[in-house]
Amino acid sequence: MYDVAIIGAGVIGGMVARELTKYRLSVCLLEKENDVACGASKANSGIVHGGYDPAPDTLKAKLNVIGVEKLFAAANKLNVPIKRNGSLVCAFSADEDKTVKELYERGIKNGVKGLKILSGNEARLEESNLSENVTSALLVTNAGIVCPYELTIAAVGNAMDNGAALRTNYEVTAIVKAEDGFRICSADGRQITAKYLINCAGCYADKIAELLGDKFFEIIPRAGEYMLLDKAEGKTVSHTVFQVPTKEGKGILVTPTVDGNLLTGPTALEVDSPENNETTLTGLDTVAALAKKSVPTVNFRNVITSFSGVRSSEKKGDFIIRASEKVENLIHVAAIDSPGLTSSVAIAEYTVDILKSIGAELRENPDFNGERENPHFFRTMSDEEKNEYIKAHPEYGRIVCRCEIVSEGEIRDAVKRNPPAHDIDGIKRRTRSGMGRCQGGFCSPFVAELLAEENNWPLETVTKKGKESYMFTGKL
Ligand SMILES: Cc1cc2nc3c(=O)[nH]c(=O)nc-3n(C[C@H](O)[C@H](O)[C@H](O)COP(=O)(O)OP(=O)(O)OC[C@H]3O[C@@H](n4cnc5c(N)ncnc54)[C@H](O)[C@@H]3O)c2cc1C
Repeated sequence: MYDVAIIGAGVIGGMVARELTKYRLSVCLLEKENDVACGASKANSGIVHGGYDPAPDTLKAKLNVIGVEKLFAAANKLNVPIKRNGSLVCAFSADEDKTVKELYERGIKNGVKGLKILSGNEARLEESNLSENVTSALLVTNAGIVCPYELTIAAVGNAMDNGAALRTNYEVTAIVKAEDGFRICSADGRQITAKYLINCAGCYADKIAELLGDKFFEIIPRAGEYMLLDKAEGKTVSHTVFQVPTKEGKGILVTPTVDGNLLTGPTALEVDSPENNETTLTGLDTVAALAKKSVPTVNFRNVITSFSGVRSSEKKGDFIIRASEKVENLIHVAAIDSPGLTSSVAIAEYTVDILKSIGAELRENPDFNGERENPHFFRTMSDEEKNEYIKAHPEYGRIVCRCEIVSEGEIRDAVKRNPPAHDIDGIKRRTRSGMGRCQGGFCSPFVAELLAEENNWPLETVTKKGKESYMFTGKL
């Protein structure tokens, strides 16, 4: 029996697992997909939000504000690229100028440091491509950018390096509560037992609560569509450029990414299902029009892909992180929509405090190592260092992805390192192979061969993203 089982290997489940391995606990992470970071933690804006937006005195405000520095510290330890580029929240009218002032005051109330109101001209001095129509802006100096799936992979990997177990393709469909713990069953007939259960199932957190007769909240899935632009556009802005938020959310942003691309989006639209992550012509047209309102020079001819992520919203608008009032030893970490990524480390610590308060014995793990080797060590080397390294490891001298310059050695590493990649998209998220302008058109067959070879699989069993997403139909 495990001490703790966590349902959902997104950034929240991953960070909770990592936090728990600081103690002498056996931990198991259960994930329905073929890989970690396949829900909201894969497809979002990747912004480290400053903390001016959540309503004061909410859990969101508290965990966002303390979460910023905690996230920077954890990302640095985990060797995940994170950058403090600051953000600008732009107004376009006298009415919106008032909203900028309100956001400033709300931020001060929430305890955010480094906020400043700029005139339109001052904002354009910060960001030269900003629209002439910007009338004022809130400068948020503590805000930043991070790659959300890389953070999730690193959190889960570090938890695994410290002893946590991960079971993928484990869709929890039934949970039986007995006196000594939970029996947690998967759709394909597997089961594990655990004394404590933590529900980090994202858009499905209410369904997990329902399995235990404890559904006191309802998740409303809300999709956000994006367009990602080529690195040629990556320097269009240096800050994350927002518009003043509306009741639908933080509005359309234009931001550089830590990998050097330009990201625009998201829309905010309620969808019928968490699986509905389609992009639509209307959604993408809205993104383009509103992004150009802030930054008219964005060149949408340089779009390399579009995608959509689904938020797990709840009508009260706050995070739900608490021990169940009905079921002993169960904790819900639900309705973690934005700024959940920013707050993820703070949420994990808060959750572990709740676990302690309900009686779990937390003895420190003296062997815990919170650091993770840089998976991109090769690309950070100088040409001389690379040459030396290739002499001993020739697989690093064979380039597989020409757009992002990813070598065979890095791809083989991604299959071996925790959490191991099982499919083409898993390799892509770990190495950036297939993330460039050709979007995997050139490298995918080579990646498939390497995946098959490393795992000893027949080539035709390789999938794009698990389940039935086969890359090949058979041999000719
Ligand atoms: C469009 C969009 C933009 C956002 N922008 C930002 C931002 O810029 N900054 C920020 O701070 N936050 C942002 N967020 C919020 C952030 O992405 C989320 O708060 C965070 O990713 C939530 O992580 P999670 O682990 O709770 O959920 P998820 O990542 O969805 O993980 C839940 C996991 O549970 C698994 N699961 C579900 N049911 C089961 C089951 N029955 N059995 C086993 N596994 C199961 C799922 O497969 C999934 O992997 C944004 C979100 C979206 C959608």
